[in-house]
Amino acid sequence: MEKQQLAPIGSFCLNEACRDYKRVDLKNIVKCGKTDKGVQRYRCKTCKKGFTATKGTIFYRCRHSEQEIAECIAKTVGRWIKLVRSHIKQFEEYLVREHTFSQAQLDALWTYVGHKGEKGGELKNIQEALFGVEQR
Ligand SMILES: [Zn+2]
Repeated sequence: MEKQQLAPIGSFCLNEACRDYKRVDLKNIVKCGKTDKGVQRYRCKTCKKGFTATKGTIFYRCRHSEQEIAECIAKTVGRWIKLVRSHIKQFEEYLVREHTFSQAQLDALWTYVGHKGEKGGELKNIQEALFGVEQR
């Protein structure tokens, strides 16, 4: 199977109207300073439009830094999962009753959060997904 790689922001134009839209490594994108929050700006030499490194991400036009947002999500979601972990059976019944989850959806949910019956695994998985390494 061929492994796909994501092209980094700054290696292609994000302007849908540009003739070089999403065409990677044409050398048409140049760095163009930083925002007051320190986010890298880029400019396309083809269409003359600018964009920031966070365009198309959850961090685009946010007042808070990527670090603040990631930490807030990790802490909030991690706390909720810890609460749910001690009430898994009740939570599953609630999901089935109030949100008509099927067993397959529950299985997918627990697989997603890394439950699989191991204590602490779900928080670790979320932290690793957000930060790339386990946080202490
Ligand atoms: Zn362009």
